[in-house]
Amino acid sequence: LQNGGAPRIFDVGRWHDGHQLKADVEAARAALLRIGVVPGAQVMVAVPNSYAFVVAYLACLYHGAVIVPVNPETPAAELSRVMERFAAQAALVVKDTSDAWAGELEASGFVQCEVNHTDRLSQLLVQSWYSQKMQPIESQAEAPSDDTPAVLMFTSGTTGKPKGVLLKHRHLFAAANNVIGSHALTERDVAYCILPLFHINAQVIVLLSTLVSGGRVVMCDKFHASSFWGDIQRHGVTWVSCVPTILSILTKLSVQKEAAKSLRFFRSASAPLTPAIGARIEAMYDVPVIESYGMTEAAGQICVNPLPPGSRKSGSVGRPYGLSLRIVDAEHRPLPAYELGEIAIRGNNVIEAYVGLAPSPDEGYGEGWIYTGDLGYQDEDGYVYITGRAKEIINRAGEKLSPREIEDVLNAHEDVARSAVVGLPDAMYGERVVAWVVPQDPDRVQAEALRESLHELCATHLAKYKCPSQIVIARSLPVNATGKVQKHILREIEPRDML
Ligand code: ATP
Ligand code: MG
Repeated sequence: LQNGGAPRIFDVGRWHDGHQLKADVEAARAALLRIGVVPGAQVMVAVPNSYAFVVAYLACLYHGAVIVPVNPETPAAELSRVMERFAAQAALVVKDTSDAWAGELEASGFVQCEVNHTDRLSQLLVQSWYSQKMQPIESQAEAPSDDTPAVLMFTSGTTGKPKGVLLKHRHLFAAANNVIGSHALTERDVAYCILPLFHINAQVIVLLSTLVSGGRVVMCDKFHASSFWGDIQRHGVTWVSCVPTILSILTKLSVQKEAAKSLRFFRSASAPLTPAIGARIEAMYDVPVIESYGMTEAAGQICVNPLPPGSRKSGSVGRPYGLSLRIVDAEHRPLPAYELGEIAIRGNNVIEAYVGLAPSPDEGYGEGWIYTGDLGYQDEDGYVYITGRAKEIINRAGEKLSPREIEDVLNAHEDVARSAVVGLPDAMYGERVVAWVVPQDPDRVQAEALRESLHELCATHLAKYKCPSQIVIARSLPVNATGKVQKHILREIEPRDML
């Protein structure tokens, strides 16, 4: 924690500087020893975006414990299913969550203790739950090394069951340094944290990269359209890590360019950014939108577009930064530019295997490649274009269809806010193409007219077999905490208009 006295984290109405952060982290670490958390043990951290999260996270890191971040808003009924995936010795939980989960935590053999041991921490944290079997420990263990496990995360579960990803200290810091390098982050930067810290994006892209580069973070529990621009101006925020849904909401606010004066860039990742939304943001606010591509397995970032004056390519997620990437065929052989295949990655920030699953098959083309399940191609300058996910490919009578291609056509319609295309079982074709469409203005939309106009648009731009057999108009789509459409849920809902 360099920059001792400089402000670091803004939360609960004030800045917390490096000295204070250090003192609070040490106090929290002492509390971990007191409740008997041994280095290497898993600690569930269920704390909303806050200074308290930062204290809890860093205390575990310094202690050599493995942080298991969990959404503090997980309904109590789901908690036992979530906790089945790991074996935590203790849980750091804020008051509201602790109240909501008390029964479930007790049932799992945890006892509660209060860690409100300093005034500073008492306004923030933390109720701690720990296993009855634990004893206080005194010895100060060795400082963690690069190979010490740091965070156990689970992928978003967009394509199936969430997979366990164990990130070591070296993965986190390699990833943070890639972000610092690609975004030219310095101690003058002020990040605005609106994405949830229990996911990799906010944790590494926003928090760790800022702590490592010596900058500042303004904490926000989540994105609020009403306070967004006020916060940006008040704190002189220089960049914001967003998901496309948030950028899409920002295009609907009427705001003076003046409000965005301090911003160097918006960053967009997690899901495909519709080029029209990026262009609209840039025109409205005069702030570049830097599209990036990341995943939990890479501790965050894989590809990123360059900052101006570098050339951003609309529709591309940018170039690999600080790691190796190749596009491979079904036998994992590398493909030339413009050929479509699966994206494989390898690097200091990339895990080699999942927790509890066999390592990805390595067919002798180099060790340590992770096959992302994402499909795409590279252009002659190395820019990557994602065309979809292997698991979401629709097989209609043997023709393989990419939902993304169809979604891009639908999204280009001016009355469409977003869309999601899925394959549903079909007696004749095996699968049929069904499109879910969220209109820009669900209260005023003429569903029948929009549907007709979308069928026409598809007929103009897509081969006949790719055109949706059904277009459903809905007020919203099931999305997870990082704004990704949960297609496995969509496949299970009856496809009919929901306005
Ligand atoms: P699961 O692996 O459990 O199905 P998930 O892949 O959604 O879930 P994450 O690790 O949170 O879990 O997300 C990484 C994925 O998000 C990438 O593999 C990619 O499919 C998608 N993604 C990230 N950034 C972009 C982007 N800019 N454009 C398109 N897709 C993106
Ligand atoms: Mg994934």
